[in-house]
Amino acid sequence: MDRIIYLDNAATTQVSEAVLNEMLPFFRQTYSNPSAIYSFAEESKKAIDKARTQAAQLIGAKPEEIYFTGGGSESDNWALKAAVEAYSEKGKHIITSKIEHHAILHTCSYLEKLGCEITYLDVDENGKISLDELRNAIRPDTILITIMTANNEIGTIEPIAEIGKIAHENGILFHTDAVQAYGHIPIHVDRMQIDMLSASGHKFNAPKGVGILYIRKGVKIRSFIHGGSQERNRRAGTSNVPSIVGLGKAAQIMEETMAERIQQETEIRDHLMKRVLSEIPYTRLNGHPTDRLPNNVNFCFQFIEGESLLILLDQIGVCASSGSACTSNSLDPSHVLLAIGLPHEIAHGSLRLTLSEETTLAEIDFVVDELKKIIERLRNMSPLYEDFIKNQKRG
Ligand SMILES: *Cc1c(COP(=O)(O)O)cnc(C)c1O
Repeated sequence: MDRIIYLDNAATTQVSEAVLNEMLPFFRQTYSNPSAIYSFAEESKKAIDKARTQAAQLIGAKPEEIYFTGGGSESDNWALKAAVEAYSEKGKHIITSKIEHHAILHTCSYLEKLGCEITYLDVDENGKISLDELRNAIRPDTILITIMTANNEIGTIEPIAEIGKIAHENGILFHTDAVQAYGHIPIHVDRMQIDMLSASGHKFNAPKGVGILYIRKGVKIRSFIHGGSQERNRRAGTSNVPSIVGLGKAAQIMEETMAERIQQETEIRDHLMKRVLSEIPYTRLNGHPTDRLPNNVNFCFQFIEGESLLILLDQIGVCASSGSACTSNSLDPSHVLLAIGLPHEIAHGSLRLTLSEETTLAEIDFVVDELKKIIERLRNMSPLYEDFIKNQKRG
């Protein structure tokens, strides 16, 4: 196989060349610990300050409101656990949705064991929460609303500004897991009234293992990792200088290229959706038809096992996913597809293709051509499909 066609950018992205070049000096030349006193430390310290400004700018935040973490999962854990700790006098009720990433859902079940009460909002068939249901779920002891900006499996974008407004009208903190959205679609923490926001470097061409938690000034949130005084005493541990530098550079590039990138990805995404839906029968698009991430498509093909589809695509060098990377080694259908109302047998046949700025129309056309053949082959081996066609003919 000469070349792979990588269509799993929601799972992780490639570090871009510009980002890597920015990072390299911080492994050997400028390896100082930014917390030290001597002037050799000053360069690392300055580089972190610059990255903090770059990461803040992308979402309209102030640099001092950005905390570097070890990735999206850590940011989500920190936001939820530390908010519960800081606001426990007001109450222990949290509102979230059924389609959050496991970094949120599993943290919520952990908090339930510690005595928190969690309301899991339903979503409609496109994956959107209902603002009325959100309003109805609010109680006097609600301390936090955490709803993702955009879903990692089906790409649906939630009404974040409206959620922020409702949260603040009721004096409730609003956290959003923006790991899939940060850098990919416009986000503004003031206009959207976001109090805390999680993002992760490796979802936007920075390295794995580095992320941010935005915490609005004035939000009382405890530290999560105890130790040294890094990150304004709130997240201890010697700063991961190269990765932080990479994250900052990647954020800057995302900001500079966002408009162009959205346009390009949307065009290719829509071409892909249109071809698959019109050329492959018994196919359903999962997620919102228009309010979705520019780089995400997700389909269900009736009578097909997602696993077999992925194996056959792999044989021709196509990297894709069924559900999310974190759950693909379990046989349970995705909690997101079940939440949008798909029956188990259909939720098994899902395929997620997520594009990057480097994905071309030619690659997509190749993938659709191959997909048509693969699906026909698989359906021809399926007894369910055979029965279905017989019944249709009897009609
Ligand atoms: C990838 C992802 C995470 C986890 O981020 P890591 O940096 O891999 O820990 C959390 N939430 C969403 C929506 C994601 O897509």
